[in-house]
Formats: sequence, C-alpha cells, structure tokens
Amino acid sequence: MASIEMKNIVKKYGDGFPAVNDVSIDVADGEFVILVGPSGCGKSTLLRMIVGLEDITSGDMVIGGSRMNDLAPRDRNLAMVFQNYALYPHLSVYENIAFPLRLKGDVPESEIDAKVREASKTLELDEHLERKPGNLSGGQRQRVAMGRAIVREADAFLFDEPLSNLDAKLRGQMRTEIARLQKRLGITTVYVTHDQTEAMTLGDRVAVLKRGVLQQLASPRQLYTNPANLFVAGFIGSPPMNFLPASVEGTTLKLPFGSVDISKDRAAKARDRGLLIAGIRPEHFEDATVVDKTGGTTFTAKVDFVEWLGNESYAYIPFEAPPEVTEKLLELEKDLDGDAMRTQMVISLDGASRIDAGDEAEIWVDTSKIHLFDPSTGENLT
Ligand code: ATP
Repeated sequence: MASIEMKNIVKKYGDGFPAVNDVSIDVADGEFVILVGPSGCGKSTLLRMIVGLEDITSGDMVIGGSRMNDLAPRDRNLAMVFQNYALYPHLSVYENIAFPLRLKGDVPESEIDAKVREASKTLELDEHLERKPGNLSGGQRQRVAMGRAIVREADAFLFDEPLSNLDAKLRGQMRTEIARLQKRLGITTVYVTHDQTEAMTLGDRVAVLKRGVLQQLASPRQLYTNPANLFVAGFIGSPPMNFLPASVEGTTLKLPFGSVDISKDRAAKARDRGLLIAGIRPEHFEDATVVDKTGGTTFTAKVDFVEWLGNESYAYIPFEAPPEVTEKLLELEKDLDGDAMRTQMVISLDGASRIDAGDEAEIWVDTSKIHLFDPSTGENLT
C-alpha cells in the first residue's frame, strides 16, 4: 500500500482555462479520500493523472514516496475500478479475478489459486466462483472488480463514479459495501463522485473542487459544520443551506426576518463589512411551539408553503434581497450546477409541527450555527 501526494498539480488542455489548477492533496497510506464537485470541476482529470492515463502539465505526483509523473499506468501498481466494472462476460468469477495474475505470465498455478480463493473469501464471493458475471447482482460484480484489484496487490484503489449507473436502492447498498470493504482491507483509496451523499458517507476526508481549484479538504463533519466558503456551504447539505442578506451592528445580526444576537467573537469578525451573506441550514430552525430549545432566538414569519414528509416537514418562507446578494447567489447557482434559493428560505420542522401555509409562525433559530460570508470573496468569516 502507499500514500499518494499530489503537489501543485496543474492540467491544461491546449491554451484554455486549466482543468486542474494548482491542486495539492496528500492521501495517507490506508486513507479514503473523495474528490467531489459539479460536472467539469476537474475531478476525473485529477484521478486520471494519478493512474497515469493523463499527462501532468506541471506539479508532482508522488506515490509511495516516488515521483510517478513519467511512469506508464502499468508501472504504477494502482487499480482503477471503473463504472462498468470491465469484467469479461465469458469468464467465470474465478477466472475474472485470476486474470491480472495470468497476465503476468510467470505466476505459478498454486499461487494464483491461493490468491483467488483468499480474495474471494474476503469479498464473500467464494460460493459464486463458477458463475459468469451475467448471473451476478450489481453488488457482486462490483466485488469481482475489487477482487481483481486485491489479487494484484495494488498499492491503491481508484474509483471513478462507480455507482452512477445503478438505481438508488442498489447505490445505497453498494455504498455501504464499499465503505465496509475499504475499512477491512485498509487500502489507500481515491474515489471520484459528484454525489454529496457518497462524499459524506464514504470518505475519511473529502476534497471539494470548483473549476479545477481545490476549495476545501476536510473530514465530512468539518465540511458540514465549517464550510470554508459559500461554494462548499451550498454544495454540502440537502436541502441546501439558506443564504440571506445580512449586516452586523454591535453584536446584533440583522436578517430579513428580524434581528438576532450573536457572540462578540463572531460579530467582531464580520463587523464593518457592510452587506454580508448569512448562511443557515434548514435544520437549524424549528417550530418554537413544538420543540423546547435552549439558546437561540425566536421570530415570527409568514409561511408560504409546507411539505409534510412524516418525520419532518419543510416550510418555505419568502424574503427579499438587495441586487448585490441576488447577483452573488445567481453566480453561486451556476457554479453549483443546482439550487441556491434567492427569494425564499426553506426550514425543516419536527413532524409534529402543525405550521401550515399562510400561518404567521413562531420559529426558533439556533443563532450559534449561523455562518457569515463575505459577498465578494465568498469566504466564511465566522
Ligand atoms: P464530470 O463529472 O462531468 O465527468 P469532471 O469534474 O470529472 O466532470 P473533468 O472530466 O475532469 O471534469 O473535466 C474538467 C475540465 O476539463 C472540463 O472543462 C472538461 O471539458 C475539460 N476536459 C476534460 N478532458 C478534456 C480533453 N481531453 N480535452 C479538452 N478538455 C478536456
């Protein structure tokens, strides 16, 4: 096994904007790192540079302590697990797993047999060795693909959106399976996805990319509680974080639905900056009449629409924002390739809440969880 150090990696296709722009990421031996971001952010290009399928324009790719920039893919001893698993349909599970060892040409039959049997036991495939891939479930096929990587004794696993062709249920199962296997095998893994749920549930650490630039590299928990900027804040979390116009006077934070007190510390970081963007996650609000919360502030707001989901409901509250904020959120929406609501916020309420459309509702907000962003740089100030 090996560590993977990406040092100031740049990739330019022709004269255009770099697809990967000065990215540095250290993946420790045995660590599971996710590369995530919207379409075109450069995550696949970065993965392909690790494997050697793409030239590196500048920077160093150091694997297991050696610089690999100029080494052919076959000399890097990495195992790429593709979306379609790339299994041979006419070969049995046994032969599919044995394939990379047979390819070497000089591995004794007894050694091949021992390795295939050991890997298939680890992967719980030992009862299916004679089957053809066509007779396996999606999950079992994925395991065969991983079996191949295991018998090769690869230094690292690299996954490029391996679950994107599967339906939601199977995707969930496979996600758990990959996480379990990776922990059991303890093999260094880099995994590309555009799916934030995969990113949050699989990775020890997650690298969030936007237009080729690394935005933040942190544990899922840190990304969620401490996003470095508007982009990361908007990308992680579903429904997404609400972004509202805000300003700070003294220790009072003025928001469209009223004023709330914030700590001196946080106020000091944001004061004298004029217009700001406040970020509040939907779950940091609650129906004040249902759940008794300590701390925070209660306010009254007119609810436009409610979606009841059983265990919780989402209430929508319209707000007005000045053009500077609206423009910034429009830009963010384009970057995210998705939603950043500009005219309403969504709040998540306990399933027992009776708040309905048209109500002037008593809402509680956890003021300690409010983020404040600089509208020009997007930086999280708090
Ligand atoms: P997706 O999720 O859509 O696969 P991605 O985040 O993996 O996107 P990349 O495939 O790495 O993004 O592409 C990053 C940028 O590089 C994109 O703007 C893309 O158009 C560009 N790009 C990728 N491959 C090439 C190529 N062979 N020639 C020119 N430009 C390319």
